[in-house]
Amino acid sequence: MARRKKIYEGKAKILYEGTEPGTLVQYFKDDATAFNAEKKATIEGKGVLNNRLSEFFMTGLTQIGVPNHFIKRINMREQLIRAVEIVPLEVIVRNFAAGSMAKRLGLEEGTPLPRPIVEFSYKDDALGDPLVPEEYIIAFGWATQQDMDDIVALALRVNDFLSGIMYGVGIKLIDFKIEIGRIFEGDFMRLIVADEISPDSCRLWDMKTGQKLDKDVFRRDLGDLTDAYTEVARRLGVMPNNVSPATKPTLIN
Ligand code: C5P
Repeated sequence: MARRKKIYEGKAKILYEGTEPGTLVQYFKDDATAFNAEKKATIEGKGVLNNRLSEFFMTGLTQIGVPNHFIKRINMREQLIRAVEIVPLEVIVRNFAAGSMAKRLGLEEGTPLPRPIVEFSYKDDALGDPLVPEEYIIAFGWATQQDMDDIVALALRVNDFLSGIMYGVGIKLIDFKIEIGRIFEGDFMRLIVADEISPDSCRLWDMKTGQKLDKDVFRRDLGDLTDAYTEVARRLGVMPNNVSPATKPTLIN
């Protein structure tokens, strides 16, 4: 069998050449990293869960008309996606203070924000993905003002969608990160949601207990990460209700 061409390997995912032009295969690894890869581990089952959860969120976004890269899931760890030109920004939306914002401003984690706040980091591992103002983004040509208006609109739609879905299963969406890609259709360029949406890139707190069900479990050594992600998948119906987190990760087709 011919080996597939690897296009890119990141910390948690690998991209291979797709089956048709303009597509890629996105493979979800079990590797977890935090603090710009200073902390690393392999967490069995994480890739399988994130593949399924990202499929679930991206499919839902498609159904409400938010364009994104997802085409179809191929198997437990792989999905077919549209090839995009990634905008070199991490687009972060926050509903409650946590993480780097809580630290920067001396706010208690969980403090509600006056409105959703969208912020941007420049994607550069060597620099530790520094927070950048819109002024830099436009001045350095990473995106235009029109792009930024579109990106903020997309990010806020994703926020409303994800917040609502999570609310329905007793989870508070504290914040999340998305990435945006450009696709070219004839003379037109469109911005679409790319990369992944999973508990690796969101902060998810149980509404009643405040228990963390996201990557902070790994970052802060709060317990078993697969158990946390399995619980999110179970509540969203991505896994059958009768599967206990102990028998992880048994996923329905
Ligand atoms: O660390 P910080 O508070 O800035 O993270 C905000 C949100 O963005 C969190 O949900 C975190 O998981 C996500 N994030 C990410 N990838 C990064 C940085 C942050 O998914 N490189």
